Amino acid sequence: MPLSFLPRVMTRSLADLTPDYLLGKGIRLLMMDFDNTIVPYTTDVPTERMAAWLEQMNASPVKIAIVSNSRNERLIRFCETYSLDYIMRAHKPSAKGLRECMARFGFRPEESAIVGDQIFTDTLAGNLAGVMPILVDAIDNHTIWLKARHVLELPFLFAARKRRMET
Ligand SMILES: [Mg+2]
Repeated sequence: MPLSFLPRVMTRSLADLTPDYLLGKGIRLLMMDFDNTIVPYTTDVPTERMAAWLEQMNASPVKIAIVSNSRNERLIRFCETYSLDYIMRAHKPSAKGLRECMARFGFRPEESAIVGDQIFTDTLAGNLAGVMPILVDAIDNHTIWLKARHVLELPFLFAARKRRMET
């Protein structure tokens, strides 16, 4: 699978992705990064819009699951509260966690997507696993380290700029 840092689609927020949009692209499994994709690092309380989106997705034909590199109580509590399946310690950009998720729920790479805020973990893992990588804007790059990492992503964001969804 290709070593590519380019997302297939870019959008401002996870909540911009509707079941109709995903199904229209042939996507039936949406794997989701957690930190800075669903909530910022500093909380496990989603915005009202995000909470409503999770509920809408859980009621839709698109299967959603969290695939995160971290493992902590905050994440487990969140998944229990919002009835989400999860894979932790996924070691993105390795494709391992994404493959494990597809195998667990019985989906092929062509019908799967990974959505996350980081090119060097989420997007790269998606390309390595042969699934559709969707890049969302980070909710809050609140540390100097997160801001610096974002600067390194800028050339790839520029290269993929035409793939930004109209929202
Ligand atoms: Mg993240």
